[in-house]
Amino acid sequence: VVVLLILAFAYSKLNETNEKAITNAQNRTVLLTVLSHIRADLLAAYQGLNNFLLTPEKIEYKKKVQLLIQNTINTSQQLQDKPFSRDTLVAEKAALLKVKLATLHNEIQHLFSIRLDSARLYPSLAVAAEYMRPNRVKMNSLMGIVKYEMQQDETIKTAPDVYETFINTRYLWGKMLSNFRIYLANRTGFFDQHLLTRQEEDLVIRYKELNKSLTALTTLAEQGRLGFESTYAVKEMKAASELWFEGFTRIKVIHHSDNWRLDALIMKNKITPTLDGIVILLSDLEKTASVSAEEDFISFKKLGKAQNNLLWIIAILGIIFVVIIILSLDSFIFKPITQVVSALKSEALGKKGEIIPLVKSQEAYDLVSAFSEMSRQVHLRQSELEHRALHDALTALPNRTLLLDRMEHDINTAKRESQQLCLLMLDLDRFKEVNDTLGHSVGDQLLIILGERLTRVLRDVDTVARFGGDEFAILLPHTDGQQAKKIAEKILAALKDVVLIEGIELYITASIGIAVYPQHCASVQDLLRLADIAMYVAKRNKTGFEVYRADDDENSLSRLSLTNALRDALDNNLLDVYYQPVINIKKNKIVGVEALSRWFHPELGTIPPDTFISLAEQTGIINELTYRVLEQSISRLMQWHKLNADLYVAVNISVYSFREPLFVSHIRQILEKFNFPYEKLTLEITEGAMMENPLQAVDILSELRQMGVKLAVDDFGTGYSSMAYLKQLPIHELKIDKSFVLGLHEDKSDEAIVRSTIELAHNLNLRVVAEGVETETAWELLQQFDCDVAQGYYMSKPKSAEDIERQLTDESGKQVK
Ligand code: C2E
Ligand code: CA
Ligand code: CA
Repeated sequence: VVVLLILAFAYSKLNETNEKAITNAQNRTVLLTVLSHIRADLLAAYQGLNNFLLTPEKIEYKKKVQLLIQNTINTSQQLQDKPFSRDTLVAEKAALLKVKLATLHNEIQHLFSIRLDSARLYPSLAVAAEYMRPNRVKMNSLMGIVKYEMQQDETIKTAPDVYETFINTRYLWGKMLSNFRIYLANRTGFFDQHLLTRQEEDLVIRYKELNKSLTALTTLAEQGRLGFESTYAVKEMKAASELWFEGFTRIKVIHHSDNWRLDALIMKNKITPTLDGIVILLSDLEKTASVSAEEDFISFKKLGKAQNNLLWIIAILGIIFVVIIILSLDSFIFKPITQVVSALKSEALGKKGEIIPLVKSQEAYDLVSAFSEMSRQVHLRQSELEHRALHDALTALPNRTLLLDRMEHDINTAKRESQQLCLLMLDLDRFKEVNDTLGHSVGDQLLIILGERLTRVLRDVDTVARFGGDEFAILLPHTDGQQAKKIAEKILAALKDVVLIEGIELYITASIGIAVYPQHCASVQDLLRLADIAMYVAKRNKTGFEVYRADDDENSLSRLSLTNALRDALDNNLLDVYYQPVINIKKNKIVGVEALSRWFHPELGTIPPDTFISLAEQTGIINELTYRVLEQSISRLMQWHKLNADLYVAVNISVYSFREPLFVSHIRQILEKFNFPYEKLTLEITEGAMMENPLQAVDILSELRQMGVKLAVDDFGTGYSSMAYLKQLPIHELKIDKSFVLGLHEDKSDEAIVRSTIELAHNLNLRVVAEGVETETAWELLQQFDCDVAQGYYMSKPKSAEDIERQLTDESGKQVK
């Protein structure tokens, strides 16, 4: 705003000066034009005047001069009119000019009148007329009187000397008169100064002679030799001649002065000085114009300088402004943003201790508070996620994962401090009945209440974990067998109290198995296993609780023999693999198979995978089993690929295998051994397994993904992983747990879950597999929901390799249903 104001001011100033200068220049031009007109007119008038003086009888010269002078007066009037009147100096001088022109006019007028009147033109003529003529006339008449008397008087006539004297006198007078006339003519006609003096001298001599002669005559008169009248006349003659001569003397003075001719005098003393004055005045006025032009130039120069300064000021202001903006941006926005960014980075990398900047500007403050809020929310969600990953959704108790972790930790502590600790396995009696008869809702509420009671009974350092179903595990650090027994009694007492749910009284009993570290064993797995065995003993004996005894193992002989049998089956390749086709819903075509282990025991019959898999997991032979299934199914798939069935195989991976360090390299070995295309192998890992150790899971999955193997989250929906967590996993596929799909045709909430899961998965670019499709309705709904692939009894139960092969050759793998 300041810069704009300055610019506007400068602009108006420049404009103003500019306009002023232009008007000044215009005025100057007019002034100079007027002055030059006056000058030209004056020059012409002066020439005209000279012409007139030479030939005054030519009337047009006079007229021309008069016209020109009048012109200059009129023109000078313009100077007094606007716009010059504003300049007081010009106005004053113009007024003076006008006066002088008027004076000039008058003087010229005067000259005119004089030049045309010779009496006035030559003052000597006036003197001659005034002084000399009367005396000349008087002299002549006196001479006449004397002559007459002398002619009348015979006596006198006879006196020749008297007459002669008179005649001489008259001659001298006449001679002087004629000489004087010539002198006068010379003065007014020719301009011979030299001759003039001589003529004057001559006249003086003549006068002296005349005077002498008159004196002689007077003497004669006194002698009485003249007549009466002549005597008197001679006397008079002397006086008249003296007066005449006096006139001449005066004329002589005039003739020797400057004003012997008046027009020249006027020219010299009046008109020329006036003209000179006017010319000076004109020059003066012109100078005034040039001074004003110079003033304009100076003011322009000043303005230019001022504008130069202004430009500098604006430039400096601009630079200061920009610098201030940059500095303030830097300190108010950029720096805080940089700090926020680095805080964000540290936050993203999980580093602690990054200081959130103190900010000055509202924007940065908003950013920082938004960041703080976001980081708070992220922390909140993260801890929520962690909590969910480590806790049971129903009872909010720690889950298996957390318990295993704490066991590990507590065992280490106990080892270090040579302490004991106990693990209690607790299983509710007849809980299945409650569930089956009163419904899941009552069963769930019961589990929640019992979980709370357990927590209440125990110390803070103890951990109660829900192990799934109606199984709880209790970790008691710093506890020996005796103390554990007491705690078990306390627990059982607490559980025994009636539970009231929806008006139904429930009496619950439980069986507890106790294993002691290091008395019974030294590892987490063994503690779990031994506590489990003790629990079975307690259940079987209905004793409430039991502490593990070595011979109890024999009581779990069936388990043990089954384990042996499984190992046997594995060693002898007695395990079989069945394949359940996976169908592309849109194309209605088999695209792959899921490999499912089968164990047909010669005596015990078909043993369900749920049983032998968990057995294999607990006895540590699961890895071997997994590799077997992998090898077997991959070699099958190789055969089927040769039959032109371009199928993929999905193999289930146990959480235990997932923990094995060499797992990934084993998979690679097998794939390389068969030269099987990596992308045709999908590994299914349950959601729970991924959640057990999320960071490790991401590492392993990333490695597998990089290898080119496809990854699926199995039984999705049973764990607690959020979509946000899933997003971070490098997986390809989501298998919606069959528990949701089974009820699809009757349960609206299942329908909603399945549909939204499909949508969300698609949003995350994941393929969706629905398993447990048993009905046509479910199939159609999945079709509607845009599910990618499906498997289920509706399409095909898991079949032996031979059956699948038959189907592939029969139907060329096209039509499945
Ligand atoms: P899973 O991975 O969820 O496998 C799918 C299970 O659903 C299979 O049970 C399959 O027979 C069953 N199923 C498929 N279609 C339907 C249907 O329409 N309705 C119903 N009700 N069930 C259907 P299966 O074969 O009894 O296997 C049970 C579980 O045992 C598997 O669940 C998997 O977790 C585990 N398992 C099986 N074989 C292996 C193996 O080789 N390795 C490992 N680690 N686990 C295995
Ligand atoms: Ca599976
Ligand atoms: Ca599954």
